[in-house]
Amino acid sequence: PDQNSESPELPLPGGAQRQHAQAQARTHKTRGSTNLRGNQPVQSSRLPHRDAPPQFSTPLCPPVSPPPGRGDRRRRMAAAGAATPVGAAPRVGLLYDDRMCAHATPDGEKHPENPERLRAIRRKLDAEGVASRCVDMKAKEAKEKYIASVHTPNHIKLIRDISSKEYDYRRNKTARKFNSIYFNEGSSESAFLAAGSVIEVAEKVAAGELSSAIALVRPPGHHAEHNEPMGFCLFNNVAIAANYLLNERPDLGINKILIVDWDVHHGNGTQKMFYSDPRVLFFSVHRFDYGSFYPCEGDASHCFIGEGAGEGYNINVPWEHGKCSDADYVAAWDHVLLPIAEAFDPDIILLSAGFDAAMGDPLGGCCITPDGYALLLTKLLGFAKGRIVMALEGGYNLKSIANSLCACTKVLLGDNFTYNSPRMQPFESTWRVIQMVMVRDELKAYWPVLSSKLPDNVPLRSAPSYIEPYASSGSESDVEDVSELPDAISSVNVTQVVDDVLSKHITMLKLDEDNLATKNTSSDSVQAQDDGPVVASTRIYDLPFTWRSALSKVYVWYASFGSNMWKPRFLCYIEGGKVDGMSISCFGSHDTSPPRGTMWKTVPHRLFFGRSSTPCWGTGGVAFLNPEINYNDESYVCMYKITLEQFNDVLFQENRLVKDNSEDGKLESPSSPLIGLSEIESVSSNKALHLEPIKDSWYSNVLHLGEEDGLPILTMTCPSTAVAQHKSGELPLAPPSETYSATLIKGLVEGKQLDANEAANYISSAAARSL
Ligand SMILES: [Zn+2]
Repeated sequence: PDQNSESPELPLPGGAQRQHAQAQARTHKTRGSTNLRGNQPVQSSRLPHRDAPPQFSTPLCPPVSPPPGRGDRRRRMAAAGAATPVGAAPRVGLLYDDRMCAHATPDGEKHPENPERLRAIRRKLDAEGVASRCVDMKAKEAKEKYIASVHTPNHIKLIRDISSKEYDYRRNKTARKFNSIYFNEGSSESAFLAAGSVIEVAEKVAAGELSSAIALVRPPGHHAEHNEPMGFCLFNNVAIAANYLLNERPDLGINKILIVDWDVHHGNGTQKMFYSDPRVLFFSVHRFDYGSFYPCEGDASHCFIGEGAGEGYNINVPWEHGKCSDADYVAAWDHVLLPIAEAFDPDIILLSAGFDAAMGDPLGGCCITPDGYALLLTKLLGFAKGRIVMALEGGYNLKSIANSLCACTKVLLGDNFTYNSPRMQPFESTWRVIQMVMVRDELKAYWPVLSSKLPDNVPLRSAPSYIEPYASSGSESDVEDVSELPDAISSVNVTQVVDDVLSKHITMLKLDEDNLATKNTSSDSVQAQDDGPVVASTRIYDLPFTWRSALSKVYVWYASFGSNMWKPRFLCYIEGGKVDGMSISCFGSHDTSPPRGTMWKTVPHRLFFGRSSTPCWGTGGVAFLNPEINYNDESYVCMYKITLEQFNDVLFQENRLVKDNSEDGKLESPSSPLIGLSEIESVSSNKALHLEPIKDSWYSNVLHLGEEDGLPILTMTCPSTAVAQHKSGELPLAPPSETYSATLIKGLVEGKQLDANEAANYISSAAARSL
């Protein structure tokens, strides 16, 4: 069945029609090779090598050794797909339809997601003579039954009706109930056309009528959730198309779909829709910034790998900060995406092609060049016989998106391209993120290819400094010149647009924290109500933060079991300084605000005293908590409600990672946190996290002791390996010094947990018993 008319216009696969379709399919041999250096031809990754097995290497990143057999399979694949006569041009579908420009802000307010985005791209493709080389496609509205494969009936009804007269007087109010959404009279039609257009082109590519296709659609889709529009997205266009191919068109033989989401934001909606579905491998690379980048949900972290049958089929590569460039993306491609794509062997690739990681984008703060996008796309052409469907998602600098999409279209058309952008090194953080993804045992179980070791001699650059907000750093001069664009477009000041939108929304939105919880309510909540509160959570416009400002908004309970049980001593870690009995001062935290709460608890872990002296307390052991749970033991912990930023500062100080820089007297602490939001996810599910970067430090093991007020209770102690060394006598057990134990006793007594005698007995018995 055709998606919108019941008349079977499309050729069914098989027989002569199939051969015809294959003959139209692009051959690998017509494709030019990539040249990154500009002087020496580099074999494109999708081309089978003759002499050596192909590697996912580029000059930006040293190669990873390919697993055995890859070359053979690649050759087989190339041979199977090479039914096209040499020299035949690829048939690239290009879907542009002005009706999708009808969706716009209701009163003409400036907004980054505006109709000019589509028009600017179209003008650029026309000006470059690229559009005329593509197969012209027209949009069709998606049938509701196909949209219903990913959205609730209420969601569909809302989007269908929102542009009707019935909504004239409450349209804006309805929009404000959602996160970063506007509606007007054209929204309904645009949304149905956007979803239908991706179905339309995906179906033709799957059927072999087109080699590949580009759907210039808006509103975008990847933030749209099962039951709510969100983040400029009304329907999840790519998810709807994926389900259409899998469920409605088994005749096309599409059983495995790779969705690559390179939009700078996490594809939260798409992730959820296929979270337990192994037929769809969802790969998203996005800014995460420790959970502070839109959509600011923890599920964008690398820990979210799918569940049930879909476990292993969800892969997030979460950047720690902005300014990521071609080199960072190429590294994620070479070391994560491409090896997994090779093993998954998709039948088609749907690309959630947002261009807001492009250089100059006012929201993304990254700097992929048009050549960079072309290179990333070239690397994907080696899979699924090159069947790629690009669906536009975000991207808000008109010049950047026009240039980037033009470069991608040329790649699909088979043009040679030379990588001319300045070579950059990946960030250190990129290497760390890639390693985090690769070392996850659960993922390795599904993708053994991830076990390959990363090269260790790669030149890396350190994290960028954030002195200015990105909105002003992406100056127009950063962007490749597109003087052929009409003045009206090229003169749009994107920074100004965003500033306007920001200030407008800040005044418009009434933040009502009590009602934030309505985000997860039942399916009925989508139906607009007249008198509901206006709800806003973190918006897509929010500017990037440093890790400190991000983690300064997250609270945890720090559970202390040693001298920190005495509050004045603990406050030395927050405010700096020292108390009686301490021989050296603490540096204090960056944020010196006092704990928001104090609370006592007992935990089923054994308290013991190990090591023989400390710089701060002199001779004698210090307190540790055995990481093993033991219900025969009970230890007192005094918990302080502090920010995750402060918790990291305590962790730094406990592990002696803060240094006094004697030259200028400034304190130096690590430039990235040891426990960010993804580590919280990890420690919450695994109960313990041994911090690899400080594995030899005394307090390198963070334990999750439960929850209080919905916040995690964390503590820091020694790793299990140290416990084993204490047991064997390799590391000494030693009773605490008098001053040190007096501090613990003061804590227990002043905290009204024990009287002085009981407290002294508690300490001495913990010190006396062997482990
Ligand atoms: Zn985006």
